[in-house]
Amino acid sequence: MTTLLSPLSQSVSTSAALTLRITEIFYSLQGEARTVGLPTVFVRLTGCPLRCVYCDTAYAFSGGEMQSLEQIVTAVAAYQPRYVTVTGGEPLAQKNCLPLLVALCDAGYEVSLETSGALPVAGVDPRVCKVLDLKTPASAECHRNDYGNIALLTRNDQVKFVICDREDYEWARFKLDEYQLPGRVSDVLFSPSHGQLHGRDLAQWILDDRLPVRLQLQLHKLLWDDAPGH
Ligand code: SF4
Repeated sequence: MTTLLSPLSQSVSTSAALTLRITEIFYSLQGEARTVGLPTVFVRLTGCPLRCVYCDTAYAFSGGEMQSLEQIVTAVAAYQPRYVTVTGGEPLAQKNCLPLLVALCDAGYEVSLETSGALPVAGVDPRVCKVLDLKTPASAECHRNDYGNIALLTRNDQVKFVICDREDYEWARFKLDEYQLPGRVSDVLFSPSHGQLHGRDLAQWILDDRLPVRLQLQLHKLLWDDAPGH
């Protein structure tokens, strides 16, 4: 005899079958982007195919533990958040990141995805705010930028440049114009690379050139000195 599953039990069994490798799930203040300062649950996926010279999450390159999509959604719900950020590593390096994003949106959260810009964002749920890096020359991963992603960005998304020096700044300024980024996304973020460029210098350059970008100073580093879990 064939047993028919209801749509609900089908989706539960599907989410239990999907797994992702997770480095950490934690509750903190958002340190970057347009929701900076707001309480947020972070889901940090393990693994990244890039090696940016300034990477501050190398501990997420390996290790972690396999969790079912159902376990992850349950862990997030325990914090009763409004905002959830899926990050890494590079979260899109795991194919099950896409159904995770759908599940988090379906649960009613305001979901953002922090991605390196090196992998295609075509399958990302349109309800998700994509925070897409464009890697600058001094990151040593500039050649990994997938510029095809830019056409897929909307006013719900953001673009981030981590800037290490004046040459990076000039490069970012050129890309701003080349891709007309300020009119394409809600925010363009210029972030000084921690320990490499003083925020005050970057602030002055932005003011001198009257750039329509937001300077961001990574609140979590100012508050907690970049300790994991924040
Ligand atoms: S993409 Fe992000 S996680 Fe990956 S190496 Fe660069 S900074 Fe680190």
